[in-house]
Amino acid sequence: MSDFDVVIIGGGIAGASLGSQIAHRRRTLVIEAEKYCGYHSTGRSAAFWLESYGGPTVALLTAASHDFLDNPPAGFVDRSLLHRRGALHVSREGWSELPAAVEHRRVVRSELERLIPGIRPEWRNAVLEPGCADINVAALHSGYLRLFRRLGGEISTSARMASARFAGGRWTVSLENGPTLTASVLVDASGAWADPVAEACGVRPLGIEPKRRTMVQLRIGRSGLRDLPLVNDSAGTFYFKGEADSSIWLSPHDESSTDPCDAAPEEIDIATAIDRFEGVVDWPVERVERSWAGLRSFGPDRLPVYGFDLDVPGFFWAVGQGGFGIQSAPAAAALAASILLGEAPGPMVTYIDPALYSPARLR
Ligand SMILES: Cc1cc2nc3c(=O)[nH]c(=O)nc-3n(C[C@H](O)[C@H](O)[C@H](O)COP(=O)(O)OP(=O)(O)OC[C@H]3O[C@@H](n4cnc5c(N)ncnc54)[C@H](O)[C@@H]3O)c2cc1C
Repeated sequence: MSDFDVVIIGGGIAGASLGSQIAHRRRTLVIEAEKYCGYHSTGRSAAFWLESYGGPTVALLTAASHDFLDNPPAGFVDRSLLHRRGALHVSREGWSELPAAVEHRRVVRSELERLIPGIRPEWRNAVLEPGCADINVAALHSGYLRLFRRLGGEISTSARMASARFAGGRWTVSLENGPTLTASVLVDASGAWADPVAEACGVRPLGIEPKRRTMVQLRIGRSGLRDLPLVNDSAGTFYFKGEADSSIWLSPHDESSTDPCDAAPEEIDIATAIDRFEGVVDWPVERVERSWAGLRSFGPDRLPVYGFDLDVPGFFWAVGQGGFGIQSAPAAAALAASILLGEAPGPMVTYIDPALYSPARLR
């Protein structure tokens, strides 16, 4: 039997980032079911920071995370985790509406043709969001894991929680193959498994739903694509961005409901993605270089959930990060840590109301 203050279930970006903010105060263990942390959603993202994404309540966390990502503290990583590329929200009719707080401007057709040579004539309008950037997700995630360990945190991989019982103010946590653990706080940072994990702990689920999203890396018969902006359909049917000189990352913006699983792309979604792409530009598609899929998990109001469960004390939710879990991670972790530790929020999140993300709103 090993005793901890906090056991975090899940070693993706949510578990790793939160762990790194509490390990100096609480003896903390991260348990990760897979052989390595980041195997599921965290390792499969499209890796961009897009302030306008997810609505104003998500944008609070995204914007507050920017400075950390752009200029990480000494000892975390030694360079910016962002690489600016800009985003173009394109439309056939009308203009994309972006929140006033997000820097943006309209782009006329002649400029659009310069930014995306070969764009088909029916794509008449675009709104440029210049702040959009790629995130170095691997460096961010490994930076958090490293910091967590440096502060005394422990990580156990191939360690799947089977069930947990709360009695006398402490959790007894059973792993599928491994020792029994005890802790006073259990953190659910299990991504797509958020609700089943809660149920296995005797906690009522919140209605977190995993949705599959497909990504395709296409080889294109032209060069100069690496720094292409993120091209995002205002109507939400595709996005693509440059990857290498002659390849792009493309998504059909799918959102298929699924049980939590090791998600894989479906042929129909790949074909749909290519069909939509060919309706945007006249570039020759040479081949699919690779494809993958991952799960984006949403609560009923599509906002993340950070806070203690109302019914079961000692059960802490860090779930529902949808398609914004990477770009919002620094601020989300700071906010969640202040709630968990019962401390005043740090400067990154001083002006963000934690009640916005509380599980109380879903009960
Ligand atoms: C295709 C795609 C594109 C995306 N693009 C972006 C983007 O551009 N920008 C952005 O910010 N976000 C993006 N996202 C969203 C982002 O990837 C997620 O919000 C984020 O990775 C969620 O992190 P997590 O730690 O909650 O989940 P995960 O990374 O899935 O981690 C949860 C972990 O919990 C573990 N676990 C589950 N059950 C148990 C158990 N019983 N015991 C122990 N461990 C368990 C799992 O094995 C898993 O590793 C994208 C997601 C996808 C799929």
